[in-house]
Amino acid sequence: MPQTTPPRPKKSAATPARAAKAKAAPPAAPRTRRAKVMKADQAAAFLRALAAANPAPETELHFRDAYTLLVAVALSAQTTDVAVNKATATLFEEAATPAAMVALGVEGVARHIRRIGLWQGKARNVVALSQLLLDRHGGVVPEDRKALEALPGVGRKTANVVLNVAFGQETMAVDTHIFRLGNRTGIAPGKTTRQVEDGLVKRCPPEMLRDAHHWLILHGRYICKARMPECWRCPALAFCNHTAKVLAPPAR
Ligand code: SF4
Repeated sequence: MPQTTPPRPKKSAATPARAAKAKAAPPAAPRTRRAKVMKADQAAAFLRALAAANPAPETELHFRDAYTLLVAVALSAQTTDVAVNKATATLFEEAATPAAMVALGVEGVARHIRRIGLWQGKARNVVALSQLLLDRHGGVVPEDRKALEALPGVGRKTANVVLNVAFGQETMAVDTHIFRLGNRTGIAPGKTTRQVEDGLVKRCPPEMLRDAHHWLILHGRYICKARMPECWRCPALAFCNHTAKVLAPPAR
């Protein structure tokens, strides 16, 4: 009698353990192709569309002058503007000049900023930069990148914001929102914030450069968000090269 091989058991679709694991795992983020780099005229049209939707953009940080702006921006790293504004509302009541900040001291500054990220280092930096402003610049914020970047806790991004907002210079401060936008939309792709900054400065029409960083930050914060861009309500949709646009809000 011929031997017959018993039929192989059918593979089950998923073992209970595998099914539970699959259920618990978050959905993988969709892989998107790299956006094509925008040409200069497309980049200008993209920015014009953002400008038309918000003709007079402003920083959302609260400040009184160049010094309080410098302190607010130095406090804003890895923290929301809303949290910084809450902290500076009481901090600036007590100390709104370099001399008053030094007199308040690290402990005194820390009392006001304890609710924001990295508060210990930021309290030390705010007092140290205030002391340096007194020692080197007569208590006045210098209108000079090199001098600004020599202050404790002040990097290129902070210097760019101060030069732009307080002194009207055409600088481009690249934060997390602008870095994402530069790459996602193709307006200025780059592996580093400096590459994105240089690409934006190159492609942005000169007359738009001063306001462009506000348009891009606000756009990234409220519409072209990190987790999911809200392309269905984006004023610059027609000019964007993102390869995975979200054209309708997710069903609830
Ligand atoms: S929201 Fe969408 S369409 Fe608008 S810039 Fe971002 S990715 Fe492009």
